[in-house]
Amino acid sequence: MDCVMRKAYAKINLGLDVIRRRPDGYHEVKMIMQSVGIYDVLSFKKSEKSGIFISLDHAELPCDQDNLIYKAAKLIMDAYDIRSGVEITLNKNIPIAAGMAGGSTDAAAVFHGLNELFQLGMSLQEMKELGVKIGADVPYCIMGGTALSEGIGEILTPIPAPPKAYLLIAKPDINVSTKFVYENLHADTLKEHPDIDGMVDALTKGDLKGITDRMGNVLETVTVREYPIIDRIKGEMLMGGAENALMSGSGPTVFGIFEDKEAAERCSESLREQGFAKQIFVTEFVENDVKAEAREG
Ligand code: ATP
Repeated sequence: MDCVMRKAYAKINLGLDVIRRRPDGYHEVKMIMQSVGIYDVLSFKKSEKSGIFISLDHAELPCDQDNLIYKAAKLIMDAYDIRSGVEITLNKNIPIAAGMAGGSTDAAAVFHGLNELFQLGMSLQEMKELGVKIGADVPYCIMGGTALSEGIGEILTPIPAPPKAYLLIAKPDINVSTKFVYENLHADTLKEHPDIDGMVDALTKGDLKGITDRMGNVLETVTVREYPIIDRIKGEMLMGGAENALMSGSGPTVFGIFEDKEAAERCSESLREQGFAKQIFVTEFVENDVKAEAREG
């Protein structure tokens, strides 16, 4: 096999709670992760020349060792002593610095891509164990679908996907640093915590209302204070017929869950016309698709 392609799906958080800040500075989290139908496309090709060569179509992103794609490829190639080279092409569609794990999902795609290209035989478990060295969200992105994420993000439990619904996803024209948000979160003074266990139950029962009633994200306390546009977008989505709306991850992306596709589309037009966001998508939940391509370890 000389060339391999992978889709790297973005994620949203249906629920995000921070339990505590650990003495080593990491935050212990409890999150519901969900893949959505916005994806980057990566292609991988063996190269005669040794090294990692990245080409991409986005001016804001580095194509050197600062790109998470490079970091993932280097880690794998060192671990498996791969002497030949690889050319990686990235077509970026996922909004950047958005709370949608764009970089982590690209890194995860590198694990699947190089596993196939170089026939490494890595199990999902092996990929996740190496992947966490790149970032806390990478193990989840390697697996995809719907999952409860605990610890610093590395303890993952797959759960059933939500019932069919439509997602309106809008990223206001600001970039938010995940580091800034966590540094300004005071986990011990949080007054409200989302009911993550209740959401797991609702997902298991396939109860959409039970899911949307429990949506909550403690990071909104930091990001919304800084960027009130997030609350305005949530308000627009609720007025436009969303069952509920929430900021994803550290933001600033907002998603609304709709039962009615036309309502989601009308609301996306309205957000665009009012200039609330430029990057707007109407999409759906995506179920885990890796089982066929990698064996569970
Ligand atoms: P998360 O939800 O995991 O916090 P995010 O959506 O907030 O992620 P990313 O889009 O992953 O943020 O990117 C954050 C920064 O990481 C960017 O500003 C970018 O410079 C850097 N980066 C490195 N590699 C990539 C990549 N392949 N795709 C996107 N960003 C990357």
